[in-house]
Amino acid sequence: MKGSSRAQKQALLLAQAHSTTLPQNCDVCIIGGGASGMVAAITAAEAGAKTVVIEQKLQAAQSILATGNGRCNLANISLAPKHYNHPEFVAEVCGGSWLNDVLGFWNACGLRWTLEEDRLYPVSRQAASVRNVLLARAKRAGVIVACGRKVEQLEMHDGACTIKISDETREPAQYCSINTCAAIIAVGGGVSSHIAAGLDLELVAESPILAPLACKNSPLASLSGRRAQVIAHIYRDAFPQARERGEILLRDYGISGIVCFNLSRHVQPNDVITLDFAPDYNASELRQIADPQLSGKLIDGCLDGVLDPLIATQLIKLARKRWTLTNDTRADAPDSAVQADPLSYALSLVKGFPLRVSGIAHPELAQVTRGGLNIHQFESTTLATQSYPRLFACGEALDIDADCGGFNLAWAWKSGMVAGSAAAQLHSV
Ligand SMILES: Cc1cc2nc3c(=O)[nH]c(=O)nc-3n(C[C@H](O)[C@H](O)[C@H](O)COP(=O)(O)OP(=O)(O)OC[C@H]3O[C@@H](n4cnc5c(N)ncnc54)[C@H](O)[C@@H]3O)c2cc1C
Repeated sequence: MKGSSRAQKQALLLAQAHSTTLPQNCDVCIIGGGASGMVAAITAAEAGAKTVVIEQKLQAAQSILATGNGRCNLANISLAPKHYNHPEFVAEVCGGSWLNDVLGFWNACGLRWTLEEDRLYPVSRQAASVRNVLLARAKRAGVIVACGRKVEQLEMHDGACTIKISDETREPAQYCSINTCAAIIAVGGGVSSHIAAGLDLELVAESPILAPLACKNSPLASLSGRRAQVIAHIYRDAFPQARERGEILLRDYGISGIVCFNLSRHVQPNDVITLDFAPDYNASELRQIADPQLSGKLIDGCLDGVLDPLIATQLIKLARKRWTLTNDTRADAPDSAVQADPLSYALSLVKGFPLRVSGIAHPELAQVTRGGLNIHQFESTTLATQSYPRLFACGEALDIDADCGGFNLAWAWKSGMVAGSAAAQLHSV
């Protein structure tokens, strides 16, 4: 039953996509109807430009549905350039009223939001609310959204741009093109090279980030599924690289959770990650808890009042075996602790359990692709390319990435507004 209703839905979407007529000319054509592309389209259309979105999937803005575990963490009240890989560029593009601009946009869509710590979610806590109001506003603004069409190639001429498209709503696919005054690349992560081919645009190598971390021979693998509040540090050749505090999820392949996702922006294979499993207690406080009688012994269950008992049991077991990480390059590698009594050794593991990172685990779970179009070839005030003033880009197609917490979507929305507004101005020139 389920399968057949899915097939019916697909058939309906295909029929809808097929019935959308693609005009031969427009003022602004947006390549990719995801988060940034739809905002760019609405901004351009509301500024008076005849605007077309070309989206390869059968529905636009689908990418939004998976965000924030289906709840869409759409922005963060602590929006600041420091959360991004190119803070200066982001500051120039987004300006001082970035958060107000983003919230103003959503307010005008009729969306209402709520806060969880600093993170903003739709008040319905449903990503579909974000997607639906976006599509409704695009329709009101007169945006033509052509789904089931894939952009194959871009050609830039003096004063115009031709976009070659394969219409996949037809069997076999048919090829057509659209001439536009301005084009905006909004294809998201991992596919810019395809669009940039033939245009001599510079690309930064792409790699998945905001993903779980794989750890070599983790002795915590048997605890897969357990969660813990930690402070995690990344070390490379004994130098600290990054620090995060929050919840991790132990996995048989390594570790997951927002802490790891954020650290994945800084990690390289062979780095060491240390986990402080009792971040609110220092070593002497922990000792008092674990050994109130000052017996000097490591007793089973002595850490159960502070740690998840299953994690505590494993750490105690490893301490008794004097487990060490081989080739430990941590700044505070516990050579002296190895000699210490079992209790001190267990406490050293609680306060800084080392794991060696082998890389990103499950790249298919990555939320963001690092790399893409090199930002140095773009004007920060308009997001136009320096070599083709009628060609713009926004969102993840550019080499911009950020921490978890709504920062990536905040970039998508705002960069879409900047590119959409600048592209719309060209048609009247
Ligand atoms: C599972 C998951 C959860 C996430 N959760 C969050 C979150 O809660 N908060 C947050 O801030 N960020 C989150 N992100 C990141 C966020 O979704 C992205 O940063 C954002 O969607 C980027 O927007 P974009 O418009 O650049 O790309 P996308 O939204 O990916 O849109 C690109 C669009 O272009 C289309 N396209 C690509 N190539 C072509 C072509 N040749 N022709 C036509 N169309 C094309 C694609 O089909 C797609 O629809 C999450 C990401 C994932 C994967």
